[in-house]
Amino acid sequence: MGKKERGEDTELVHLGRSPEDFHGVVNPPAVRTSTILYPSLEAFENPSHKYRYGRTGNPQSDSFEQAMAKLEGGYGARVTGTGLSAIVLALTTFTKAGDHVLIVDTVYGPTRDFCTRTLARFGVEVEFYNPLIAGEIRELIRDNTALIYLESPGSATFEVQDVPAIMEEARKKNVLTIMDNTWSGGLLYRPIEHGVDIVLQAATKYIGGHSDINLGFVVAASKEHYERLRLESIVQGLCAGPEDMTLALRGLRTMKLRIVHSAESALKIAQWLQGQAGVQRVYYPVLPDDPGHALWKRDFSGANGVLSVLLNPAPKAAVRAFVDGLELFPIGSSWGGYESLLQPQYLKKYRTARPWKEDGALLRLQIGLEDPDDLIADLKAALERFRGAA
Ligand SMILES: *Cc1c(COP(=O)(O)O)cnc(C)c1O
Repeated sequence: MGKKERGEDTELVHLGRSPEDFHGVVNPPAVRTSTILYPSLEAFENPSHKYRYGRTGNPQSDSFEQAMAKLEGGYGARVTGTGLSAIVLALTTFTKAGDHVLIVDTVYGPTRDFCTRTLARFGVEVEFYNPLIAGEIRELIRDNTALIYLESPGSATFEVQDVPAIMEEARKKNVLTIMDNTWSGGLLYRPIEHGVDIVLQAATKYIGGHSDINLGFVVAASKEHYERLRLESIVQGLCAGPEDMTLALRGLRTMKLRIVHSAESALKIAQWLQGQAGVQRVYYPVLPDDPGHALWKRDFSGANGVLSVLLNPAPKAAVRAFVDGLELFPIGSSWGGYESLLQPQYLKKYRTARPWKEDGALLRLQIGLEDPDDLIADLKAALERFRGAA
């Protein structure tokens, strides 16, 4: 979180705030504007005039971007309307026709879709790599490899990547690295401190924290990369709404409390699930027997509240009995909010470097701020229904 002269909790309270710029107003005000007025022709023609047009930046987006740049310890940030548009911005800024890119196989599904449907159509060769590849990524790096894209832990199954080992190879060959850091909220892992060039997040998740916004941002470690991102986001017309930035900065203030609470509950639930009949496997790197545990422990300062459970292979009716009777886990996309959710995962079409071979149902659980004992009771009843129908 910026320079480490102050504690992380103190920084979370202060990031992006400058009451002195707004007559003492404690939170940066929402700025609703398309138009910015100029007092004279001279002001209009002055290229260093600070704000030009609502879409390209204003005092509120500056506040938000400064907060995110500090959160991730980078030079500068650019806000985007969604997490996915932050991903698109990062990938399009740093690729051109004829390039080859290496994308982790456990990447967020829509990132994969963007790469295979759109990036490929513009002449970029997309190759997915095994999340457990570590230093062997050197064998995949070609002369025209423009970037290595990381996301750790991975989506849905939470494989932990050996980021330092990958960074070492990337540095040797001078290949740009981009990391989706949504899992950590910028709190549990700071990729830029480990040499990653570009970090992005869906602020939709833990930063927002209340399931009421879509918002994203990209942070560059260097001035040079930041300038390229800034220009590209202006050219592509990317910006975010004032309400969403206000809500994201509000969420940021309590992110640590929420993430710590959710992680405590998630561990309790993961450990309980591990002992239950009908459960084949629990995916959560905090569990000591999770294959990613050692790397997670080495690199991360904590965990979030998202885990997945693989049920034993069973007829669809049994999975339906599990899911449909739940009271505290409605089916819903997204995670990082205050409420618990369940999202079924269908990974067979989404994994190629490391094909998904499990036949049981994989259910992702987002653990919210409810009493963990109530959540366990709900899951216990679901497993009883599942076993009864299997
Ligand atoms: C949700 C998510 C995104 C996309 O965020 P949106 O605001 O939904 O576009 C990107 N990366 C990861 C890892 C996510 O979980």
